[in-house]
Amino acid sequence: MTDRAVTKLQALVRIPTISDRDPARVDTVAFDRLLDEMREQFPRLHESLELTRVGTHGLLFRWPGRASERPVVLMAHLDVVPVDESAPWLHPAFSADIVDGAVWGRGTLDDKGCVTAICEAVERLLEADHQPAHDVWLSFGCDEEVSGAAAIAAVDELERRGVRPWLVLDEGGAVAHEAFPGVKRPVAAIGVAEKGTSIVELRVEGRGGHASTPARNGPTVRLSRAVLRIDRSPMPARVPATTVELMRRLAPHLPLPLRPILGRADRVKPLLARTLTAAGAEAAAMARTTFAVTTLVGSPALNVIASSATAGVNIRVMPGDTVDGVLAHLRKVVDDPEVRIRVVERGEASPVSPVDQVFDHVAALIGVHFPDAVVAPYVQTGATDSRHFTRISEHVYRFAPFRMSAAQRRAIHSYDEHLDVDTFLAGIAWYQDLVEGLPE
Ligand SMILES: [Zn+2]
Repeated sequence: MTDRAVTKLQALVRIPTISDRDPARVDTVAFDRLLDEMREQFPRLHESLELTRVGTHGLLFRWPGRASERPVVLMAHLDVVPVDESAPWLHPAFSADIVDGAVWGRGTLDDKGCVTAICEAVERLLEADHQPAHDVWLSFGCDEEVSGAAAIAAVDELERRGVRPWLVLDEGGAVAHEAFPGVKRPVAAIGVAEKGTSIVELRVEGRGGHASTPARNGPTVRLSRAVLRIDRSPMPARVPATTVELMRRLAPHLPLPLRPILGRADRVKPLLARTLTAAGAEAAAMARTTFAVTTLVGSPALNVIASSATAGVNIRVMPGDTVDGVLAHLRKVVDDPEVRIRVVERGEASPVSPVDQVFDHVAALIGVHFPDAVVAPYVQTGATDSRHFTRISEHVYRFAPFRMSAAQRRAIHSYDEHLDVDTFLAGIAWYQDLVEGLPE
C-alpha cells in the first residue's frame, strides 16, 4: 500500500507551479490550486498553525511552542523551474508516476519533496498531540527560482515580530552519494554559506554601418577581446575555512595516499586551491568567484556592422570576496575604457554560519538517521531563499534530509528529476525527530 505521504507528494507535484521573472507569465491559478491542495492534504496543520500570506502565494506558518526564545524556521519553496519540452523525460514531468520505487517529476527533489516532508512531519506530530519546545515557523516561498520577494517579505514579518531564529533550515545540501571521488561513503553536506549571484553587462558602442567597409576594432571586436581577457584572468583561487573543514572531515575516508595531505588541509591551502581549480568545473567553483559569459548580442543582421555590442556576465561571488572587489578585478583585466561595465544585479556572498553547537545538533540528528554518512559543512555554489534569513539569524543551514545519487543531483533543473519513496519517508522521520528533539 502506498503511504499517504507519497500520495500527498504526488498531488503537489502534479500542479505545475512554475515561477517566472515576469509576473504576467505566472499561472496564478496553479499556485491557488497548490495552496488549496495543501489545505486539503494537511488539515491539522492548517487548523492549528497561524498563517501569514507573504508575497503573492508565499506561506509563513507559526506553530506556537511551549516557549519562544529559541524559534526554529523550516524552509522550502512551492515554485519549480520550467520544463524543457524537448528534454527526454522518461516519465512526463508533471505525472508524478511511481516507477522503480521513486516518484518522478519536476519538483520532487527541488523542492516539493521538502515541502511535503515538512508538512507531513508537522501533521503527524499534531495527530500525536505534540507541542514543540519552542516556536516552529514554516516558511514556504513561491518565487525562489526567480529570486523573488516572498522570502524577503517573510523575513520582514519575522523581524517586525522580533523573531530571532535559533536555527534556520532550508534546502541545499543533502545526503549525497558519489559526491567526492575516492570517498565511498555518502557525504551529508550542510551548506553553511552560499555564493552570491551578480550580473554585469559589458557594452561597447561604435559607428556601425555597412558590412562592406568595416573599420578596425569595432564594437564586436573590442567586446570579444574583453570577454577573452576575463576568461584568461580568473579571480585568484582561495580555500575558505569551510572547505578546509570539509576536507578535514573527508580525509579519514579517502584513499590512503591522500589522507595525510587533506587531514592537514589548513597547512596546504595553496596546493588545495590548485588541486580544486584543476579538478573540473564543479570543484573549481568551490575555490573561487566565477564568471560565465551568458549572452552575446551584436548586429541584428548579417550585413550590418553592430553599432553596439553587449555581453552578459553571470558572476558567482565567493564568500570573502565582495561585488566591488570583483568589479575592480573586471575593470583591471578588461583594461579598456571603451568597454562600459554596468551592474544589472548585485548579490553579495552570504555570511558564513558557524560550525558550532547548533551545527552539531543538526549533524548529530543526521548521524542517527544516516549512520553511513560523513557529515560536513560546505560552501554552496547555488542560491537559496535562506540567504535572506541571515539578516535575522546567525545559524542558517542548507540541508535536505534526502539521499541523492549523482544522477539525481544532475536531474535538478534538468530532466528525469525523481525522489526515491524510501528516501522521502526517511526524510519525514528526520524532520519529525528534529521538531520533537528541540532542546528545552
Ligand atoms: Zn530549490
